[in-house]
Amino acid sequence: MTTTRAEAEGLDATDPLRDWRDLFFVPDPDTIYVDGNSLGRMPVEALAAADVTIREGWGTGLVTSWDDWIEVSRSIGDTIASELVGARAGEVIVSDSTSVNLYKLASAATSSVMTGGRSVIVLDREDFPTDRYILQGLAAASDMELRYVDSNAVLGPQPHDIAEVLSKDVALVVLSHVHYRSGALAQMAEITRLSHEAGALVLWDLSHSVGAIPIALNDCDVDVAVGCTYKYLNGGPGAPAFLYIREDLQAKLQQPIWGWFGHRDQFTFANAYEPALGIESFLVGTPPILSMKVAQVGIEMIAECGLRQLRAKSAAMSDFAIQLADECLSDLGFEVATPRDAGARGSHVSLKHDDAYRISVALKLYARVIPDFREPNIIRLGLPPIYTRYADVYEAITRIASTVKAGQHLGLTADRARVT
Ligand SMILES: *Cc1c(COP(=O)(O)O)cnc(C)c1O
Repeated sequence: MTTTRAEAEGLDATDPLRDWRDLFFVPDPDTIYVDGNSLGRMPVEALAAADVTIREGWGTGLVTSWDDWIEVSRSIGDTIASELVGARAGEVIVSDSTSVNLYKLASAATSSVMTGGRSVIVLDREDFPTDRYILQGLAAASDMELRYVDSNAVLGPQPHDIAEVLSKDVALVVLSHVHYRSGALAQMAEITRLSHEAGALVLWDLSHSVGAIPIALNDCDVDVAVGCTYKYLNGGPGAPAFLYIREDLQAKLQQPIWGWFGHRDQFTFANAYEPALGIESFLVGTPPILSMKVAQVGIEMIAECGLRQLRAKSAAMSDFAIQLADECLSDLGFEVATPRDAGARGSHVSLKHDDAYRISVALKLYARVIPDFREPNIIRLGLPPIYTRYADVYEAITRIASTVKAGQHLGLTADRARVT
């Protein structure tokens, strides 16, 4: 063990982002929260946004507040487009959950008008469950078949893995930009290019990358994408998700859920459904305004902080975590299960251990460290750069080491809790 807490504190002292942490609610500074990739911390200003929305918007304005609220899905979408994902205004809209948006886009991209007879959806066998389930459900209800990509568990799907499964019957490729388990960052530009060359559309899930790393959807010529706002965007539990459709595809894709918010002329209450002309055609029904107004706070904070700075700190901080893990944890049965090249990973570091589940429980019970556990043997340390300190990384890793050395996990049950 050579790295010291003083070194971590030194890195914090010169961190250009160090003051951003003060804008978040941190009630117990001795609890080390390294699960912001699952649920981001609460911006203090979220309380005021909720209060204003409830008191003034709902309480006082009542239904007249809709004059303002009706624009919110689109205006937050425009912020995400221009500040966070490298897209144009009008290409992103906030609505529904990531799961539902994935369904809407995958369904639209595989409708008969789009596929020209192609019948295969390519997906990652190890992708986040909801992504796989949504596509399984879509295939079960249509003529599409699924083709799974197998890849290295740490590095995730590489361009050559995708090239191997592409053929002229592939209509759509669905992949996560950053892998939820390993943290591997996929090569978006190259994989998108290869898929297009084979005649397929590509849908990227940005849930674990948006807010942590710069994304260039337009530059990569991405067709469609979805993303989550309660992870690195700190939008709050269950905050509505977003979806992106490249401008030239908007008139071609028709979503499967025909709701009144997607209607061209919503308030004429016409008999027949006619889709809106732009990205609004992918809205469905009344949006959750309270959640949306709260999520806007976190989204605007990340936009203001700036992704170049955030990415630089995330890369340096995850390097620091890996260095510490090598020093303190490699003799205790742990293995780093995240790409070692900072350019090939997102903003979390995964540690593999045979007893990962019980260790993750012991950390919460006895060490005041909150990571998360992912089946079958992974502890994830989420390191959102906007509020995580190098000292937190130091504490997380050294407390993991002392918990395991003391055998504090050994008396616990390996039966899984309802939420892991
Ligand atoms: C977090 C996450 C989701 C979340 O989906 P919900 O609909 O919000 O439950 C979806 N996909 C991926 C890859 C995720 O990481």
